[in-house]
Amino acid sequence: GVVVRAEGLGKTYAEGKLRTPVFDGLDFHVHAGETVAILGASGAGKSTLLHLLGGLDTPTAGEVYVCGQKMSALSDAARGQLRNRALGFVYQFHHLLPEFTALENVMLPVLLAGTGVAEAEARARALLESVGLGHRLGHKPGELSGGERQRAAVARALVNRPACVLGDEPTGNLDERTAANVFELMLDLNRAQHTSLVLVTHDRRLAARLDRVVELHEGKLREVARDGL
Ligand code: ADP
Ligand code: ADP
Repeated sequence: GVVVRAEGLGKTYAEGKLRTPVFDGLDFHVHAGETVAILGASGAGKSTLLHLLGGLDTPTAGEVYVCGQKMSALSDAARGQLRNRALGFVYQFHHLLPEFTALENVMLPVLLAGTGVAEAEARARALLESVGLGHRLGHKPGELSGGERQRAAVARALVNRPACVLGDEPTGNLDERTAANVFELMLDLNRAQHTSLVLVTHDRRLAARLDRVVELHEGKLREVARDGL
């Protein structure tokens, strides 16, 4: 089935008299288990699109459906719950809570979904072990390396076994070797969990590793042929 779908999606930022049209009339969908790269120049609207797909911002036209649910029809609370259970987010910067340990950071989405502490801890611990952080459970983000922080952020995104992970340049802030390591880890975990992945990147080599590549250019979304990468 389709896990994330956008229909006629449009966004224009408005601040006072200043209007910034980013795109309009975009149609986009992601199948279960599919990995999709979104390419585009800086300012093309990639982050805006990802935010709309994740329900973090409201479109000015069109609709987003996550697991068949129309985002605009949900209350803020219901949208928050759907986001927490059905989607995982990984950003360029880890956004881990600095006062909490790696284990607590990864437990949090499970607790927010209403699962008990013991099970949340068991799942967070198992996932952190599988991303190579079994020896860092009690460390706070400030005590982890850049690669370790991103791997903890990946674990946090996947701990609720979401239908789809949305990644906004998740390896963009890492050196090449560490970036490759985190990218492979994301692909492995997504395959193992049959989770879809939508990845914003400007790295065409990374994009070529995914099932499908689209490019955002002058407000339009077009499929990119694999041999064009
Ligand atoms: P990309 O991720 O492809 O670099 P963005 O989605 O960040 O592009 O930005 C697309 C356009 O929207 C840019 O022109 C940017 O300046 C503008 N923009 C992004 N966020 C906002 C905002 N919160 N308010 C006003 N304009 C914005
Ligand atoms: P950084 O380069 O920022 O220190 P890395 O992500 O490269 O962080 O790795 C930190 C340590 O964790 C290294 O010793 C590395 O060998 C180990 N490591 C990295 N990725 C994994 C993984 N997927 N599984 C197990 N151990 C890993």
